Amino acid sequence: MGAVRRADVKICAVPECLFCSIAAGEVPATLVSDRVRTIAFRDINPQAPVHVLVIPRSHHANLAELAGAGDGLLAELIDHAHEVAVAEGVAGDGYRVVFNTGNNGGQTVGHVHAHVLGGRRMTWPPG
Ligand code: 5GP
Ligand code: ZN
Repeated sequence: MGAVRRADVKICAVPECLFCSIAAGEVPATLVSDRVRTIAFRDINPQAPVHVLVIPRSHHANLAELAGAGDGLLAELIDHAHEVAVAEGVAGDGYRVVFNTGNNGGQTVGHVHAHVLGGRRMTWPPG
């Protein structure tokens, strides 16, 4: 699919946030699918044949903040992640959804995102 389109309404965008800028269409990314409150786009540095990031359009720094919002957005994000796995053809063989959270979790972008990884056998424990 094409580039992420500029959202009709910019929701709670944080000026210095990379993923807010992607959601707003100000930074290009390769769109996989979009919904009213979430979007999915390909990771710029894929770690598996399928590596898609799913984010809320609105800014939440991490999983705790998203869970705390309590408006069903976290469930929507997970549902969108599964939809991506199905659409990318990896749901049958299995896939992994990861939220890196905080320093020890390896989070590098401070806008919550689910990694959807598939297309190869994942190892455990993670690195
Ligand atoms: P984290 O390390 O926070 O869990 O994941 C951040 C992810 O964002 C990394 O996998 C990284 O490759 C990806 N990423 C960083 N900058 C960009 C970008 O400008 N565009 C896209 N599509 N992905 C990015
Ligand atoms: Zn943001």
